[in-house]
Amino acid sequence: MVSRVIPVEAFDLVVFGGTGDLARRKILPGLFRRFVSGQMPKSAQIIAAARSDFDTSRFLDVVSASINEFAGIEFASEMLLAFLENVRYVKIDAMGSDGWDDLKGMMRGECVRAFYFSVSPALFGPLAERLKTFGIADDQSRVVVEKPFGRDLASARELNQTLAHHFREDQIYRIDHYLGKETVQNLMAVRFGNMLFEPLWNAQYIDHIQITVAEQIDVEGRGDYYDKSGAMRDMVQNHLMQLLCLIAMEPPSQFSPDAVRDEKLKVIRALDEVPPHHIVRGQYAAKETVPDYREQVGNRSSRTESYIALKAHIKNWRWAGTPFYLRTGKRLKSRVSEIAVVFKEPPHSIFEADSGQKSNTLVIRLQPDEGITMDVTIKEPGPGGMRLVTVPLDMTFAEALGPSADDIPDAYERLIMDVIRGNQTLFMRGDEVEAAWEWTDPIIEGWERRNDVPKPYDALTSGPDDALMLLHRDNRKWRAL
Ligand code: NAD
Repeated sequence: MVSRVIPVEAFDLVVFGGTGDLARRKILPGLFRRFVSGQMPKSAQIIAAARSDFDTSRFLDVVSASINEFAGIEFASEMLLAFLENVRYVKIDAMGSDGWDDLKGMMRGECVRAFYFSVSPALFGPLAERLKTFGIADDQSRVVVEKPFGRDLASARELNQTLAHHFREDQIYRIDHYLGKETVQNLMAVRFGNMLFEPLWNAQYIDHIQITVAEQIDVEGRGDYYDKSGAMRDMVQNHLMQLLCLIAMEPPSQFSPDAVRDEKLKVIRALDEVPPHHIVRGQYAAKETVPDYREQVGNRSSRTESYIALKAHIKNWRWAGTPFYLRTGKRLKSRVSEIAVVFKEPPHSIFEADSGQKSNTLVIRLQPDEGITMDVTIKEPGPGGMRLVTVPLDMTFAEALGPSADDIPDAYERLIMDVIRGNQTLFMRGDEVEAAWEWTDPIIEGWERRNDVPKPYDALTSGPDDALMLLHRDNRKWRAL
């Protein structure tokens, strides 16, 4: 099957922080890939705005280098030259008035205007204000904001109010790149495009759900930021929470931004408080040449968690009694992001106890090897009696349907194209972010009040033993990392 790329309309995209790490690794290479695919029109203009003392020609060298390193596709050199023709650079000070008139002069007339704030959240307000004061953004313009969106409810509210002062909610695109992943959208297609799953999608048939985002990398290079944040703020409040919402939400009445986000919000609001004994926090220990967490962040008395596992409950009819186990951490055995929906065992087994029957498990894997599989029990072919075996049924059908892996947009590029199309379905709404902090805040405050110290865990393992016990006590097991 041939991939169907629908070009978006012409646009001017201003990337504030265009010389930064995120722009170089994700945003610029992602835009180039959309250019190569034909989705980004040749006339689209990309303006990088940052504090660095560059001119456009020097910046183009940076863009070429980042595309060569990170685009991950083969391309002809003419293609890169064509892309670079519409890339500009402007030196700007988000806190001052330098560069803003130059930026205004670069913007074109009739086309979509989008502004990507790939900078520290402290600059969101000053940028929004100047975009308006200098007459660069109008009431059709869109702004894209990066995580972290606040560090608690109060700061998230303040950010929302600051943005709302200059832009309507339908102009604000809060990025959570997990939502841009192909498989996350496939999860919605599988859930709501089939009759098969929805009748079983509840506490009566689902034993429990595991959401795992395990990283092998440590905090090096980000230690300062990370130590003020920790796994709860950096991962659970946003990425894991979004995955939980998509798994647990009621079917929206239509696949439209507010219908989907209304349902996600209801899930967050229905989350029960998590008692301390349902949470395990960890910090990685030293291994070989890599020092322990505390040494890496330069804070010997740090009580910030680099690992967290918790058991959550959703207080509604659908999920009463079904636990959601969430875990995420750094310096773990492998790099895995997945959701596993573990179904209950059949009410009565007609096979012998040692026949090999296992629960059905639907696994939505975001990385590595994006895809959806369903473990089903079948008879092992051949002679030898009724021996059962569990095999994964691949529901991605990537090979049968295409497009080739090269054509599937990466999360960032897909989301940027959605911004240009004006589709907010895969972006977080302000009230969703606030509700997520409302659930997270008391947990973090509890640790602070009790001076909670995270448990050390051996690097490159599955995390602290207490996390294994969290499930063991419930007669369950984490999936292997
Ligand atoms: P970075 O430090 O590498 O880059 C910051 C950019 O902001 C630079 O281009 C710098 O010139 C610009 N800048 C700083 N102060 C400025 C000012 N006063 N006026 C104009 N420009 C200014 O940061 P980054 O890693 O690219 O991250 C950018 C944002 O994205 C942050 O909010 C970060 O939390 C978020 N984020 C980054 C990643 C990542 O992988 N790097 C992932 C998720 C979210």
